[in-house]
This record gives sequence, structure tokens and C-alpha cells, in this order.
Amino acid sequence: MEMVEDVVIVGAGIAGLATAVALKRVGVRALVLERSEGLRATGAALTLFPNAWLALDALGVSHKLTSVYNPFKSLGYATNVGNGTIQEVSFGATDGDESGPRSVHRKALLEALVEELSIDTIRFCSKLTYIEADRQQGMPIAIVHLEDGTIIKAKVLIGCEGVHSVVANWLGLGAPVDSGRSAVRGLAIYPKSHGLKPGFQQFVDVGKRGGFVPLNDRELYWFFICNSTPKWKDNTGNPELIQRELIENILKDFPPIYSDVIEHSDLSTLTWAPLMFRHPWDIILKNLSKGTITVAGDALHPMTPDLGQGGCSSLEDAVILGRHIGEVFIRHGRLVPQEAAEAVARYVKERRWRVAGLITGSYLSGWVQDNGSGWWMKFFRDAIFYKLLYPRIMGAVSYDCGKLPKPSSHTELEGQSLKI
Ligand SMILES: Cc1cc2nc3c(=O)[nH]c(=O)nc-3n(C[C@H](O)[C@H](O)[C@H](O)COP(=O)(O)OP(=O)(O)OC[C@H]3O[C@@H](n4cnc5c(N)ncnc54)[C@H](O)[C@@H]3O)c2cc1C
Repeated sequence: MEMVEDVVIVGAGIAGLATAVALKRVGVRALVLERSEGLRATGAALTLFPNAWLALDALGVSHKLTSVYNPFKSLGYATNVGNGTIQEVSFGATDGDESGPRSVHRKALLEALVEELSIDTIRFCSKLTYIEADRQQGMPIAIVHLEDGTIIKAKVLIGCEGVHSVVANWLGLGAPVDSGRSAVRGLAIYPKSHGLKPGFQQFVDVGKRGGFVPLNDRELYWFFICNSTPKWKDNTGNPELIQRELIENILKDFPPIYSDVIEHSDLSTLTWAPLMFRHPWDIILKNLSKGTITVAGDALHPMTPDLGQGGCSSLEDAVILGRHIGEVFIRHGRLVPQEAAEAVARYVKERRWRVAGLITGSYLSGWVQDNGSGWWMKFFRDAIFYKLLYPRIMGAVSYDCGKLPKPSSHTELEGQSLKI
């Protein structure tokens, strides 16, 4: 089968769906290709910081989540597992700040985005295998090849297929790097109530760090990060084994409250993943686009989760890409490929240093928190990083990606017709 589309987005994760919503809001129809049979919400939950809420505002979906999930108080707590001391850690928000960070179910975020799209926007069971760039009537086009033999010609192609992106590879960005650390995540469900106060709690040991945050009265999102090879490395599809290994061996020295949370896990949500990132210099020096082909989300900027910014910055990508492509579309009432290529180049220019900074900040934040048994490293972590640097870093992470342009009624109509 051969198809023709204005814009093809590969991947129906946070980045792909948010980009499709952004484009729809400026009048551009996109086709989203997803290899799975349905939406994937691996990781159970995530924390969205103020920059993500600004992006979700621009996408017109924030209200669906803010009405369900409460913002954190300004402070979280970090417990030094070695000596039991507990200290407050500021996220940089103030008490009662409605724009403060909130943890949300991934599924809820994906559904909030999907609801904005028309039913035929996502094509499931559509695995991208390779792409080519070509020219048609002198204009650049992308040719997308799917595993089922389908070929799609697109004026614009946006790879949002996560860490192992085919499009990023085609652009020459290469494979992401393994940080040597890995994470287990899951949801803990208490039948009545967990009885814990809202707010983020972390437990920090040498080379091991755990944490949890309540999502509501009954559910908590928890994570565990370690920088050694876990015993379950060859058995990652066995959540029971991972849970048992954590409780019985790895977390022996951790406060019982943390083990209790893990004991309450819904095993269907428990997953393990190596933490990957892209070298920031690759982002700064390499091509992030070629003509009208580019990448967004983890495909562009895989980063370690230590600042909780991978998903947040994917939402920023979506709004900024939507804005630049939308401006071209609104000007002409259709996507002129040459100008679409210039729009993509403007998106890349706007994102390059921002995401290189986030990757670097995340990596260093993880390095400080998860390394070093020496007293000076612990002193630096507890007395300098948590007390002084972390609130400043979170302040620096704060960013307003701006709004989307409004389509005219003329372009909204034209958006449905395809002219290659
Ligand atoms: C432990 C951990 C904790 C995290 N915590 C946070 C947090 O608190 N806050 C935050 O903002 N971020 C967090 N992140 C990062 C966040 O999860 C990612 O940045 C985000 O999910 C990236 O979204 P994405 O859409 O780019 O990629 P993905 O979520 O990976 O989605 C990619 C989609 O593309 C599909 N796909 C892949 N290949 C193909 C193909 N060839 N053809 C078609 N479809 C394909 C996949 O099936 C998938 O649906 C965390 C990450 C980890 C590992």
C-alpha cells in the first residue's frame, strides 16, 4: 500500500501525541504511526514540572490533569540511608503554587492528549523500519517504510519513537549511551489509604537511591535507581523476582516505609530500564534535522531521569515544533515544503542548547546523588547539592515554551486536504 500525508509522526508516546495535538491546534493534520497495538504507558507515572504545565496549557489539555492531580508542596525530603538524617529539599516552588510540580499517571497524560485527536490520527501496529529522503517536483519529501510493507510519502517527518529512534539514526545522531545506571519503577496501591502526606520522599545511599510520591490517597509512584548491574538483568520480564530481590536483599538498610511501598506494588506496572542518554556535544554539533525530517522527545534528547525532564521537555518540543510549522501553514494555507524545512531548522535552533543543557544537568545531578562513598562526596551531596544547588537547578530548568499561533478558519479547512 502507498499513502501520501502532509506530516507523519512516528511514535505515539508523550512526544508524538503532544506534537500531533500541537499541529492540530494550528490546523495541520498529522498521521501518527505506532508500532504497538495500543497506547503504551510504561513507567506508570511521571512528575511534570512547571515547564511541562506551561506546554500543556499551550496544548489546551492542562485543565484535564490539574483538576485530578494536586501540586506538590514546595518541599520534598531526602533521607541519608547511612546515618538516618532527613533534610528538606526545595523544588523551587512555593507552598500552594498551582503551577508547582505534580505527579500524574502516564496513562492519564497520554489519554488527555489522545482525546484531542480525531480517531483516524493514530495508526497502530505500524512499525517504522527505515526512511529515505527524496525530491518530488523539486520539493523535499520523506519516504517512510513500515514493517507491513506500507510506504508513506510525507512532506514533514518527525521521529518521536523514543530512545532507539530509527529517524535519529538516519540523521546520523547515533545510538544513545548507556549511563551504567538503571531504574525500577512501579505503582504501589493501598486498598484503603496509604496514610502518607503529599510530597516527594527520597532515600539516598551509596550507589542506590529510591523514592516515592503519592498520586492520590491510595496510589504512590515509586522508583529505585542503582549504578551496579542488578541480579535480574537477564530476567527483566519477571516483576516478582525484581520485587523480591529489592525487598529481601538490596533495600535491607532502607527505612521500612520504603520497602512497604514496594511490597504494595501492582506488579503489572513494575518495570526495569537501563538509563540512557545522548552526549550533549552530539546534540550541539550534529545535524538534528535534514530538510523536513527531524526528531523530538527521547528520540532527540534521551536523558537520565534525575531532573524529571525527559517528558517535560518532550512537551516543550511539541509546542515549539507546532508553532514553527503552524506559522508556515497559516501563512500559505498549506505546507510549502521549502518553508516547512526552514520551520524545522528554526525548531532545531531553538531546541539545541536547551536540551543539551538539560541532558548535562540531569547527568550531573544523577552523578552527585548516586556516586561516591567518600565523606566529601556525601558532604557535597547533602550540604551543598540538596541545600543550595538543587533549588537553583530546578529554577534554571524552568522555561516557558510559549504559545501556539491561532489558525484562521481558512487554514483549518485547508488542513484537511493534502497537496504534495
Ligand atoms: C526511570 C525514569 C523516570 C522518569 N521520570 C520522568 C519524570 O518524572 N518526568 C519526566 O518528564 N520524564 C521522566 N522520564 C523520561 C520520560 O519517561 C521520557 O522522556 C518520555 O517518556 C519520552 O517520551 P517519548 O514520546 O519521546 O518516547 P517514548 O515514551 O519512548 O515513546 C515512543 C513511542 O514510539 C513507539 N515506537 C518506537 N519505535 C517505533 C517504531 N520503529 N515504529 C513505530 N513506533 C515506534 C513506542 O512504542 C512508543 O509508544 C523518566 C524516565 C525514566 C527511565
